[in-house]
Amino acid sequence: MTTVRQRTILYIEDDPASRTLVARTLAHAGYRVLVAERGLEGIDLARQEKPDLILTDINLPDLSGREVTTRLRGESQFQTTPIVALTAQTLDEFRDIAIAAGITGYLTKPIDIETLPESVEYYLRGGRDTIGPERLSEAQTRYTQEVVGRLEAQIRDLESANNALRRLDKMKDTFIQLTAHELRTPLTLVFGYSRLIEDAAPVRALIQQDANLQVLMKGLQDSIRRMQDIINEILTISRIMTNQIDLSIGAVNPGFLAEQVVSSFEEALKTRAVQVHFDRDGWPDSLRGDADLLLLTLNNLVNNAIKYTPDGGHVYLTASANEHTIQMRVKDTGIGIAPEEQATVFERFHTAGDTQLHSTSKVAFLGGGLGLGLAVCKGIVEAHGGRIWVESPGYDPEKLPGSEFIMELPVNAPPRHPVEVR
Ligand code: ADP
Repeated sequence: MTTVRQRTILYIEDDPASRTLVARTLAHAGYRVLVAERGLEGIDLARQEKPDLILTDINLPDLSGREVTTRLRGESQFQTTPIVALTAQTLDEFRDIAIAAGITGYLTKPIDIETLPESVEYYLRGGRDTIGPERLSEAQTRYTQEVVGRLEAQIRDLESANNALRRLDKMKDTFIQLTAHELRTPLTLVFGYSRLIEDAAPVRALIQQDANLQVLMKGLQDSIRRMQDIINEILTISRIMTNQIDLSIGAVNPGFLAEQVVSSFEEALKTRAVQVHFDRDGWPDSLRGDADLLLLTLNNLVNNAIKYTPDGGHVYLTASANEHTIQMRVKDTGIGIAPEEQATVFERFHTAGDTQLHSTSKVAFLGGGLGLGLAVCKGIVEAHGGRIWVESPGYDPEKLPGSEFIMELPVNAPPRHPVEVR
């Protein structure tokens, strides 16, 4: 006994009632029926399943049945596949345009379930609807115009959607900036009050007697400073984003900056077994740039190097220069960064790896952050007309391949360099 291969029909239709009726009728007639509700979904399914025949509605929510046909006809695997329109558009003009688009046959709704399997069989056996060359050429022109018209309308829609998104994005930037400003003022007051309370004679006496109180007071002030840092980070990045960063260019001594950064971590590093190596002698000593912002950049890089290097590891700060540029490098023996993450880590709020592992400490191994540090660095370096990138063999928290962040700055930064941070 020979088995007849069951033939597959793909039906693209957005109307559920027609979909059910046709699918049932054809399944009952022995075909394997696949259904898609939209044109793009239909194209994907056709590529995946290579059906023996495609039945398509003309008016679909995304691409029309005609456009689906033209798209598929462009691929060699569908050049001879029967593609049949099943539509309520009964006028000859519509039929002609469908044929111009590459449709093999044209069936009109309402669907006649008695004759549908027969019609399908006709097209499966090679039957096709044809029109004379003159009508075909006229229909081709009308079809091209229709497609171009739709393309224009789509581009206009996308442009206006894009403009609306840009407006929203700007509003979001302004909102972030205003919120950060609003938070900064009361936080400064809280910090000031905590210092005043600490300095008040009776409190000072109590603190001196009670070690617990000292710890509480320090915890309170550290937390406030941490919040201030985050707010400042948000303000800096939002200035960079909105192109409001004003570099205060002056003579900068990179070696001195690095020295300041390294000594600022000395205290925090008492809780970590990470060694920071820095040899001031190898560092160039002159550059024109914004000292505060470059300090912040170097600080973020060293901070990350410490955060992403487990105990027992090392962080190296090195630099080199020629007459035009200076390169500052922060290298670590930490967890490394996967190649696909190496560009995106510089995006705002990018936090690679497992967020569950993040703690709230700033220097703790995998200590949490907002994912703003590197975006800030990139904005600052680019505002100086420089560039920043990372080199790492990959991410591996076991083998610890390490990462090296390199920032390259022109020796003479341009007065102001407009930047756009994404
Ligand atoms: P975060 O506040 O999350 O540290 P950053 O912008 O400073 O934000 O860094 C973004 C991400 O880049 C980090 O979450 C981390 O996954 C990765 N990263 C940054 N520096 C290093 C490094 N030295 N080693 C490994 N991964 C790093």
